[in-house]
Amino acid sequence: MKPSTLRIGYRYRPRRLAKKYDAVVIGSGMGGLTTAALLSELGWKVCVLEQHYTAGGYTHSYERNGYEWDVGVHYIGDVGAATRTRKMFDFLSDNKLKWAPMADEYDRFYVGDKTFNAMAGKQEFRDNLVRQFPNEESAIDRYMELLSEISGGLSAYAMDKVLKPWQQKLAAPYMSIKKPKHLYRNTYEVLSELTDDQDLIATLCGQWGDMGLPPKQSSFMVHAMIARHYLYGGFYPVGGSWKIAESIIPKIQKPGGDVFTYAEVTRILVEGGQVAGVEMSDGHKIECGCVISSAGVANTFAGLLPEEVVAEFGYQQKLPNVRPSFAHLRIYIGLKHTAAELGLPRTNFWIYPGNDYDKAVDDFIADKSMEFPVVYISFPSAKDPDYENRHPGTATIEIVAPAPYEWFESWEGSTWGKRGEEYEKFKKELGERLLEYLYAKLPRLRGRIDYYEVSTPQSTNWFSGYQRGELYGLDHTTERLQQDWLGPRTRIPGLWLTGQDTLTCGVTGAMMAGMLTTMALAGMRKMTPLLKRVYG
Ligand SMILES: Cc1cc2nc3c(=O)[nH]c(=O)nc-3n(C[C@H](O)[C@H](O)[C@H](O)COP(=O)(O)OP(=O)(O)OC[C@H]3O[C@@H](n4cnc5c(N)ncnc54)[C@H](O)[C@@H]3O)c2cc1C
Repeated sequence: MKPSTLRIGYRYRPRRLAKKYDAVVIGSGMGGLTTAALLSELGWKVCVLEQHYTAGGYTHSYERNGYEWDVGVHYIGDVGAATRTRKMFDFLSDNKLKWAPMADEYDRFYVGDKTFNAMAGKQEFRDNLVRQFPNEESAIDRYMELLSEISGGLSAYAMDKVLKPWQQKLAAPYMSIKKPKHLYRNTYEVLSELTDDQDLIATLCGQWGDMGLPPKQSSFMVHAMIARHYLYGGFYPVGGSWKIAESIIPKIQKPGGDVFTYAEVTRILVEGGQVAGVEMSDGHKIECGCVISSAGVANTFAGLLPEEVVAEFGYQQKLPNVRPSFAHLRIYIGLKHTAAELGLPRTNFWIYPGNDYDKAVDDFIADKSMEFPVVYISFPSAKDPDYENRHPGTATIEIVAPAPYEWFESWEGSTWGKRGEEYEKFKKELGERLLEYLYAKLPRLRGRIDYYEVSTPQSTNWFSGYQRGELYGLDHTTERLQQDWLGPRTRIPGLWLTGQDTLTCGVTGAMMAGMLTTMALAGMRKMTPLLKRVYG
């Protein structure tokens, strides 16, 4: 297979580095790019180091055989009006990023032999639920109220992360009133207080794949955050998800910063109890007293920092409190007809074996021949009005499904494209199984697929720099949300964190994490005027 030629960023070479940077960012995902871009707006010269051949992290796209796919962006919410999310995207991209709305029915849930859906617009969402569950009107109204109640608390939860430890102590009484009361409860527990209708609970949790945990394990706060995020529908970046990084990078370059690809950091250097820079895989050292890791908690504390430093600053006891999210499979499909010719929808499909999502996960983990607990199907070329200009006469489909990392553990450390026959056979088997889910819903596609490839958790590790093929970094358990060390500040002077592990997953979650890290680094005096420019 030929590597993709769709590349954003500039190839790293030691001679291309500036003499001095104000900050080094590890990882060019949405968290890293947002932090770098906002610091650049404050006049900082920032160097972003990305191990992959293209920038963007999970927002990157790739092309092969005349098709183009996104790897970690299927829909973004909250960008159809002048919301805070939209204003931040506009600011970071200098208004270059454009959004195409999906169909009003943005998510469709196949739950066993029943079909439910989510409709764009708060009132439409509510009314549509009532149409599907006419006996549950009061439960649905209470659910809508809970979503509203939780939104103010979310800001308190996020802002708490920016405070210094002594400020957190002072603010604790205020925060305890402000933080949502369901913050540390699981989704199923909260929803089962509203209704006994398991189909309604299944419909409300139909997006559990957006955070990677079924309702009895997930945090209600994250559930509510995602439900609210998509309440006004789903949107797709016009031109493909790689447009996100492409449109942000000029902001970083303007004051002299850089975004380098093929730039793997192997060590965060700590000298005399203080961060001193990073060491690259070619042995070159970049000196800098401010290092921001957007590479994820697992990579940072269990890979990049020396073990003795992790122990010295007390992180060894903290790491067992968090665990990686589900590993995943993806199928990238190409068809030699347009989305319109094939009648592909601008609606995501979520396919479940039944309404007990937790049991389906347990059954599947225990026995791999059981049905996949969730299969997600997206039709990116139908969502992107510009796709046909770039790839005329073609269409794409993507399928995502969970898979235990252990299935692929024996191929750890192997090279992409050279994993041998057994691996290829296993991939083929999984690919064929997952394609049947697509044909079951759209039988007209059988025999019309021109090309497809299967990506496994090892592909995710290889290209996206993960350790266990994680969908969303750390798992979104209630325990994770109680980890006060997951935020921009670390105990190691000069080391900062950003990205999905410090707040929540999602492109917007990582972007907001970038904003919080900038706030913590620059301080409110510098940040307030910048935020005024962003939010007007
Ligand atoms: C299949 C899938 C579908 C998704 N769909 C959606 C969706 O529809 N909508 C949505 O909002 N979110 C979606 N997400 C989630 C979203 O993409 C992520 O939560 C978000 O992009 C994470 O951003 P980040 O910056 O925290 O991490 P990442 O984007 O993962 O960036 C981290 C970067 O660090 C780099 N890195 C790691 N180690 C090193 C090192 N040692 N040296 C240099 N670089 C390093 C990695 O290569 C990577 O580029 C999806 C994710 C997946 C996997």
